[in-house]
Amino acid sequence: MYGFFILILYICNIKFSDMTDIRTGNGYDVHALAEGLPLFLGGVRIDSPVGCIAHSDGDVAIHALCDALLGALALGDIGKHFPDSSDEFKGIDSKILLRRTMELIAGQGYHVCNADITIAMQRPKLAPYIMQMRQTLAEVMGIDTGRISVKATTTEKLGFVGRGEGCEVYATVLVAQ
Ligand code: MG
Repeated sequence: MYGFFILILYICNIKFSDMTDIRTGNGYDVHALAEGLPLFLGGVRIDSPVGCIAHSDGDVAIHALCDALLGALALGDIGKHFPDSSDEFKGIDSKILLRRTMELIAGQGYHVCNADITIAMQRPKLAPYIMQMRQTLAEVMGIDTGRISVKATTTEKLGFVGRGEGCEVYATVLVAQ
């Protein structure tokens, strides 16, 4: 009987050691909005009367996504890797930051299983751009569009988002070895 238990433990140990390491990460970012600035979300230029005030191109969706990816592997945050005090990142296309973040993830031997992004913005309506954002992000990340979800919501005119003062984004990712 004792030997049987030892055998079961041995088999379980082999199984557990063979299991893939799976990590989850979450990211959050906010940018203030101002009239007359270009608006980029999920790598897509959005037709909008307002855009994000930022050191980079202000793609708040990509910034939250990068933070989620870095968070999954405890690699710090986007500000650590791409500081807004550096001229190198002034006005930079955030797709480049996402590509570099993906290189860090791949460098650690991980791939992205899926990402889920929620954009909270009062205006403009983002529904017409959702598919283009998913396709753009999937292409930059080198994964299937079906693994990238982008959702948009208003906050029913409540808070700073509802007053149109800012845009906030939540991102969740799953990565595996
Ligand atoms: Mg940002």
